[in-house]
Amino acid sequence: VEKEECHLHDIIHDLSPLLWADANLRGQSIELKLSEHVPDMQLNSKEIKQLLLNLSRNAMEAMEDRGVLTIETIAAADNVELRVSDTGPGIPKPVQDKLFEPFYTTKAKGTGLGLALCISIAERHNGTIVVDSEEGRGTTFAVVFKNAPHG
Ligand code: ADP
Ligand code: MG
Repeated sequence: VEKEECHLHDIIHDLSPLLWADANLRGQSIELKLSEHVPDMQLNSKEIKQLLLNLSRNAMEAMEDRGVLTIETIAAADNVELRVSDTGPGIPKPVQDKLFEPFYTTKAKGTGLGLALCISIAERHNGTIVVDSEEGRGTTFAVVFKNAPHG
């Protein structure tokens, strides 16, 4: 895919109004925790928007009203993480392995394609997705972009 030098936070800010509109309808809120140390990266901004939108919608769909969606960025020496967290019910361990399979869905009108798409977008950006979930507390999907030059 075509990529250009851009900033992850610009993409997050571009999507914010849409995410806030969704959250407001559900009585949920959004928290941004953006690291000052995230460098410019080679990204396809349309794909990253799609990735973030998919993960955020899943997070909101998993939560009751008053739930909080947190979007966080973390810059380390050799990677940048984009984390999307919710305060939903969490995902049991055995189910965590199935999430990324195409057509796996627990929703009446789900396609089960969102996370499969997220994985391929992450891979096209030299990244992976890691799930960390605790039942009753919530779930974090971390997109780890490897080898991003540190700014
Ligand atoms: P869809 O959203 O169409 O169901 P996805 O591929 O986006 O398809 O997600 C697959 C399944 O993974 C969902 O149906 C849901 O069961 C589970 N899932 C995804 N994100 C979360 C989350 N944040 N909390 C709990 N379950 C989740
Ligand atoms: Mg989905």
